[in-house]
Amino acid sequence: MATAVVLDGKAIAERLKQQLQHQLLTFRHRPMLAILSFRTPASAVYQAAQFAQARALAIATTHVVCPTNASQTDVERIIQQWNDDPAIHGIFVHQPMPPQIDAQQISSVIDPQKDIEGIHPHNSARRFFAKARIGSCTALAVMELIDTTGIELAGKEAVVVGHSEIVGRPVSMLLLDKLATTTICHVGTDQAGRLEDHVRRAEVLVVAVGRPALIRGAWIRPGAVVIDVGINVVHGHVVGDVEFETARQRAACISPVPGGVGPVTVMMVMKNTVEAFKLQMAGRQH
Ligand code: NAP
Repeated sequence: MATAVVLDGKAIAERLKQQLQHQLLTFRHRPMLAILSFRTPASAVYQAAQFAQARALAIATTHVVCPTNASQTDVERIIQQWNDDPAIHGIFVHQPMPPQIDAQQISSVIDPQKDIEGIHPHNSARRFFAKARIGSCTALAVMELIDTTGIELAGKEAVVVGHSEIVGRPVSMLLLDKLATTTICHVGTDQAGRLEDHVRRAEVLVVAVGRPALIRGAWIRPGAVVIDVGINVVHGHVVGDVEFETARQRAACISPVPGGVGPVTVMMVMKNTVEAFKLQMAGRQH
């Protein structure tokens, strides 16, 4: 059997970047992205990639790295200042946050028009009604990767493993919007011993859990499109949630880790910053 096409996230990100560069040339002002993170190695890597791409696109950035013992009030105060600053168009808060921080409460403090991850309840509600103006960067990246495969999603069996607010749930809604028959699997599915059954049915499989080799290559339906969002470090190497080498013998298309969803997600942060900028500029004209 032929091995899968390996989806090239870097090339897709490069294409998106060129489209953004064209748009940015038409703007009179530079969009500015504000990033809040906590001092953790995982967010340092993601953040470095965000700064590099923002620089390449001439999107201005400002950032605050909070100590891991920062209080809810400290974090909310920073976000409120950014909300009130007309020079800042996008706000991105890195997850996971330390345990003393109520992440849901933080989501609702961000101005919905500056909410780059689409996590404010207003934006979550718009997504529910398929009217999102700014959506989860990772979910949009997943859909972009799927789109490059040329698969027609209507009527396909799509299975999403993981139901987090920033990945699993939004990606499930976007698949539903495309009329895929969408199943959401989670820890309950696994505990009931039914993960394999669902994965074996998937014509489109999206995995966003954060557990290496959770999805066995032998479970992949022949000809499936497999998008692996997971990021895990095993013996110093970054791997996804899907057993890559065996899965690629069965899938039609598969995203690698690293080099799949990651670079596209970073570019979606830039794209959403540009979308937020356009929304705010349009609002100020009225
Ligand atoms: P998360 O908030 O920890 O969510 C993980 C999800 O997996 C939860 O819904 C959890 O369900 C579910 N889960 C846990 N154990 C499971 C099991 N045994 N079987 C099935 N489902 C299980 O993480 P996240 O933010 O969604 O991120 C998921 C992964 O994607 C992580 O590895 C993260 O680093 C990576 N990620 C990558 C990108 C990128 O751009 N490449 C972006 C974001 C995240 P319960 O809540 O019910 O336990």
